[in-house]
Amino acid sequence: MPEFEMHPVSPKLPAVFLDRDGTLMEEVCYCRDPELVSVFEGVGESLMAIKAAGFLTILVTNQSGIAKGVISPTDYASVHERLLQLLPENCLDDSFMCPDASEAPSPRRKPAPGMLLEAAEQWNIDLQRSWIIGDKDIDIACGVNAGVPGILVRTGHGRHALGEGARHVAESFREATTWLLSHHVEVHFQTDIERSTRR
Ligand SMILES: [Mg+2]
Repeated sequence: MPEFEMHPVSPKLPAVFLDRDGTLMEEVCYCRDPELVSVFEGVGESLMAIKAAGFLTILVTNQSGIAKGVISPTDYASVHERLLQLLPENCLDDSFMCPDASEAPSPRRKPAPGMLLEAAEQWNIDLQRSWIIGDKDIDIACGVNAGVPGILVRTGHGRHALGEGARHVAESFREATTWLLSHHVEVHFQTDIERSTRR
């Protein structure tokens, strides 16, 4: 008898959840102008590498400026459109946005896991093999709340983040991607063993 139970291959796909502001592009306070969208160097090729490794790429962004009336839904759509123009075609599979105010109780606003759970439902995502990359501690906490390990990037607000609970802290999105792709199997295999020994 094998020491570990053999699991059938999961038909579910792993995903990398991606914060937008300060992670994929320069942090602009309440960005509502598509002209201000500036994607960090190496983001496009990194996203393509993530997809080539078999992950779905899912944007998850808090936009409380909408609840505050600082950003209109149309502004948001034009900024998103500009971001897509600046990235290689089809390198993002989907995007989820939370317009809720930061002080309002919300099941979707990060650090709540709502957007990840919605995406998991819609795309049949295996959260146990997924990741989140973001520049704020709430991105990492969102991952923890959904059972997804996180990588903190030291761009945007990441320069001042604590990085508590992050699996890794990277200087850039490109470095976060390189680390993720070389540690994915190791981290998730270790987690599987921890789960099986906890039973
Ligand atoms: Mg951010």
